[in-house]
Amino acid sequence: PPGLTAPMLAEWLREFARLVSEHEDQLNSLDAAIGDADHGTNLTRGFRAVAADLRPGMSPAALLTAAGHTIINKTGGAAGPLFGTFFLYFADAVGNDPLTPATFTTGLQAGLAGVVTRGRPDPGDKTMYDALAPAVTAFTKAIHPTGPPARSSSASYALQAAQRAAESGRDATIPMLARKGRASYLGERTIGHQDPGATSAALLFTAAATALPL
Ligand code: ADP
Ligand code: MG
Ligand code: MG
Repeated sequence: PPGLTAPMLAEWLREFARLVSEHEDQLNSLDAAIGDADHGTNLTRGFRAVAADLRPGMSPAALLTAAGHTIINKTGGAAGPLFGTFFLYFADAVGNDPLTPATFTTGLQAGLAGVVTRGRPDPGDKTMYDALAPAVTAFTKAIHPTGPPARSSSASYALQAAQRAAESGRDATIPMLARKGRASYLGERTIGHQDPGATSAALLFTAAATALPL
């Protein structure tokens, strides 16, 4: 296949916008337990603006850069700059051609590095990183298998593996104690609650597995 074009990446962002708006109440309730109850509202506002601004005539990188800026400008909260930075770093890493599985991997790794640069999350801090990082690792491993061949080496299998890893990472935040962001102020009271940002980060990979014809 020739690779992921800007209209295909636009479908990914549209599907994520649809999913966060569908899960707005759930994301707000998760944030109500350990934060300020606005995570669903923040992301729904930000990604509605992204979906409305999409110009699929741009190059893939330009489309993702524009989306990153819109997310930062419209989303708010801690998560807005973090998701926005994910897309800005992703875009800067992938060049102007349609994305192959290899360049998509590079983009994911750069996006994750952007989140780390911006938020300084460590593994286990109970943040979006705890869903994003295992997803990026799973995708990378499925695309570039080091051990015995995976059941399938196709990139669509890699997206499904990334989605499953993101969902496991999200679930693994439940017993964690929050060490970053607003939730960290609540200390031990955060134990037993699923992190809202890890929940939305998992939806980003659900959207990828659904919408991207890799
Ligand atoms: P706010 O907490 O400012 O209201 P949101 O509710 O939109 O922002 O987002 C909260 C989510 O942001 C958390 O659930 C967590 O996953 C993520 N988050 C907060 N701080 C950090 C950080 N420093 N690094 C990574 N993720 C973070
Ligand atoms: Mg919040
Ligand atoms: Mg807030």
